[in-house]
Amino acid sequence: MMYDVIIIGSGPAGLSAAVYAQRACLKCVIAEKLHRGTGQISEGGKVDNYPGIYGVSGFELGEKFRSHAESLGAEFYEGEAVSITPLKDMYKVSFSDGNAFDTRTIIYAAGTSRRRLGVPGEAEFTGKGVSYCAVCDGAFYKNKTVAVIGGGDTALGDAEILSSIAEKVYLIHRRSEFRAGAALQKRVSKLSNVEFLMNSTVSKISGEGKVRSLTVSYNAAERVLPVDGVFVAVGSSPNSGLLKGIAELDSSGYVIAGEDGKTTAKGIFAAGDVRVKNLRQVVTAAADGANCADSAERYIFENK
Ligand SMILES: Cc1cc2nc3c(=O)[nH]c(=O)nc-3n(C[C@H](O)[C@H](O)[C@H](O)COP(=O)(O)OP(=O)(O)OC[C@H]3O[C@@H](n4cnc5c(N)ncnc54)[C@H](O)[C@@H]3O)c2cc1C
Repeated sequence: MMYDVIIIGSGPAGLSAAVYAQRACLKCVIAEKLHRGTGQISEGGKVDNYPGIYGVSGFELGEKFRSHAESLGAEFYEGEAVSITPLKDMYKVSFSDGNAFDTRTIIYAAGTSRRRLGVPGEAEFTGKGVSYCAVCDGAFYKNKTVAVIGGGDTALGDAEILSSIAEKVYLIHRRSEFRAGAALQKRVSKLSNVEFLMNSTVSKISGEGKVRSLTVSYNAAERVLPVDGVFVAVGSSPNSGLLKGIAELDSSGYVIAGEDGKTTAKGIFAAGDVRVKNLRQVVTAAADGANCADSAERYIFENK
């Protein structure tokens, strides 16, 4: 079976690419490893920052994206892509179930996996007070008390955002120094409602139906902080392993690509959170997907 384009990942980037590829009449399949998966957004709480569709849950938004692609006749393949083999003027994509398909182009939209704290209560309260995205969920904590866990740019950036919304922000970091940039550290240190808890680790998140408190360990002593929200910002890693040795990645493993999605591998385009970019959100992932489908169409036309 030879496709014009195989899209790997059916998150917002992949589904947006599918809509554009269908409308361009490309022979396309969207490969997704999770049953009817729609990416990370399906785990989010309410989404209030996608223009025109607001106040819906992340799950509902993902379903809308998927049904849009389906309404255009998009073909889905449920399976995990495990390798990409460059062949002459095409690629072979192999799946964990043993199947393999040939394709002229690939739109790589495999997203990122976020690192979790791995403490009791984290999984139970995800979407019920535990969040991984201050830009997305911060607005739900107006005049409340929240904690941010982490010490890098994301954590301090989150603390800065949340300080203007919440009444009180605890910034909890396991080391004695932050990794975030100096200018950001300076700004956050001046915020009167941000309290730093250094050399401290979170051992438990507790609540009833939603988060109520956080247990923090410092020097073997435990302290229970009453909080309404916990923002985990301990990093995420790109799912770019399949492109290693095929397309150039940056030092953190994100796929290097232009605005048009072109990677350093001919015929492979990267969209969404897996690629280098500043803002990892649904709206930017959807825009990338559109650009990649357009680039794939041009590439196929130019290489007929
Ligand atoms: C809890 C949470 C809340 C969020 N809230 C918001 C919000 O309110 N607003 C907002 O704009 N953004 C929000 N975001 C960010 C947003 O979800 C991401 O920016 C967006 O989902 C990125 O889309 P993507 O398609 O690039 O990647 P992803 O959503 O990560 O999708 C990648 C897909 O690829 C699949 N995949 C990975 N590897 C393979 C493989 N080898 N084979 C087949 N399939 C594979 C995965 O299963 C997944 O479905 C939130 C994120 C989280 C985690």
